[in-house]
Amino acid sequence: MQARLCVYCQAEFTPNKYSPAQKICSNPPCQTRRHSESMKAWRERNPNYFKFDESKSVIWLETQRSRSKVWRTRNPEKVKGYRQSHLEEYRRYMKEYMRQYRERKKPSTPPSPENPVSQ
Ligand SMILES: [Zn+2]
Repeated sequence: MQARLCVYCQAEFTPNKYSPAQKICSNPPCQTRRHSESMKAWRERNPNYFKFDESKSVIWLETQRSRSKVWRTRNPEKVKGYRQSHLEEYRRYMKEYMRQYRERKKPSTPPSPENPVSQ
């Protein structure tokens, strides 16, 4: 194996026998630089990688939605059971929601004996 000069620091080094095409010496600063430049080069070669990843996540979301839809159609009893067990909660929530809704719609007249707050 012939010694050669590192393209970064110009130091003489002997290439690793498993990577004879090695152009960079094994000094840590040169290895760090090699790594960051290879990542940069990779990003330049793959400009759509991150865009692709976004579209993949949309597909993933769609898959999750359709899976949960399939689950609901296959398990109607479980869905019914869930609704049943949360019915009281839901009713209370709606009652409170409607109360607040009516409160907002009410004209802002302060309560008085002539105009009592109806509950
Ligand atoms: Zn070097």
